[in-house]
Amino acid sequence: MHIYNSLSKQKEEFTPQDGKTVRFYVCGPTVYDFSHIGHARVYVVWDVIQRYLRYKGYKITYVRNVTDIDDKIINKAKEEGIRPEQVARKYLYEFWRDMEALNTQPPDVEPRATEFVPQMIEFIKGLIGKGKAYEAGGDVYFDVKSASKYGRLTKQNLNEMESGSRDQVLSQEELKERKRHPADFALWKGTDKSESGWPSPWGHGRPGWHLECSTMIKHVLGETIDMHGGGEDLLFPHHENEIAQTEGLENKPLARFWVHNSFVQVNSEKMSKSLGNFTTIRELLKNYSADELRLFILQTHYRNPIDFSVDALQAAKTGMQRLIRAVYGDGSSSANGRDAVPPQVMPSKGKLTHQLLKGDASLEQEKTQIENEFVEALDDDFNTAKAVAFLFKLSDLIGTAKDKANKEFFVQALKDYAAVLGFTLLDTRKLLPKETTSQLMDLILSLRSESKQRKDYATSDLIRKRLAECGVNVMDTADGATWENSG
Ligand SMILES: [Zn+2]
Repeated sequence: MHIYNSLSKQKEEFTPQDGKTVRFYVCGPTVYDFSHIGHARVYVVWDVIQRYLRYKGYKITYVRNVTDIDDKIINKAKEEGIRPEQVARKYLYEFWRDMEALNTQPPDVEPRATEFVPQMIEFIKGLIGKGKAYEAGGDVYFDVKSASKYGRLTKQNLNEMESGSRDQVLSQEELKERKRHPADFALWKGTDKSESGWPSPWGHGRPGWHLECSTMIKHVLGETIDMHGGGEDLLFPHHENEIAQTEGLENKPLARFWVHNSFVQVNSEKMSKSLGNFTTIRELLKNYSADELRLFILQTHYRNPIDFSVDALQAAKTGMQRLIRAVYGDGSSSANGRDAVPPQVMPSKGKLTHQLLKGDASLEQEKTQIENEFVEALDDDFNTAKAVAFLFKLSDLIGTAKDKANKEFFVQALKDYAAVLGFTLLDTRKLLPKETTSQLMDLILSLRSESKQRKDYATSDLIRKRLAECGVNVMDTADGATWENSG
């Protein structure tokens, strides 16, 4: 299995350090607003990576943090006149709802920044003790000159690095006075006592954002993890700073593999909150199913940008319909998704449904070939674009299968591999929206009313009786008939 490592800028062979357990960390959300499709891409990609690693038989510890204290959260709280904790709690809940709606599996551990403040303070003390950080005016900064390899993840030279802004409270002039080097970054931000914060040896304040990931990785996963992931916008300064902090304190590499996914872009610009060109997951789920959005994301390799457009989403919808039709036929059966793979079921290698089916001898060979094709695609730096194309190939094989046993075999294979990629294959073709249900009831009641006007009481009574059998009570009132669910 080969994975592209952002650190070496090439594909490298991957095996976990102990051969069995993959310990990986993904930078999670800052919870101050609804998530957009750019965020969905990060978490769907990592959902597929962890599903695939489990399918390969590895044990996984998948850690994804929650940034629940941050300038953006504090600003939102000020705007809304509520406490930062309330903002964080509200949007963490909304984030979970989106993640579940997208059928992503929850991480094994989901630490929150605010749960690790004492550990972060200890981390800073350690860095000061080693001469790698210094206090200035109630803040603590990391001394980038103390990190000999600073900039190596993004291949940058320290002399050319710009100053990062600490926050809106300090002017550029004030920052210049406090920092020894423009690229030094805040580990601790001193704040006024009236603001959200914690007591520390350097006074009241709150931790810098970069520090939480280094601290949580240290305490939740331990030394030198197998993989660290996130969107490519986090490469600099966030991941560069994580490396500097951890290596500064521990003198050991933070992670063996650094894996970054590309953006979702609109008219060649990155979709982001600050540009205002975003579409929320919640909004998209009104018109597209989780499977359709997942197909939209996975049909592009994770390191290539995705162009967001209605046409591309519609194409994903059509593609999904093709797979559903291949699995359930023309819809004349009453499948209604009942046969779909339950969202949380994870087939593991060797236990795939289609492998248990008996068919003619040619299928035995087919089984190995099919599995090889799927594994080859994903072993090559998680090439989901190829894996998705493989699902469509299976759907074609269903169409041309020579007999029922062969067809059943390919249907099961399609379901198995779709589940590894996190597709539910729920057949929603016969699930009607609520509005349609009430329109249908209006139609039935108007036909019944017409039969009564014709004095055809046999028909009107029959309609009432049949509806009662379906659990619908019809009541005749002075204003005509109405209906309710009989419970
Ligand atoms: Zn991080």
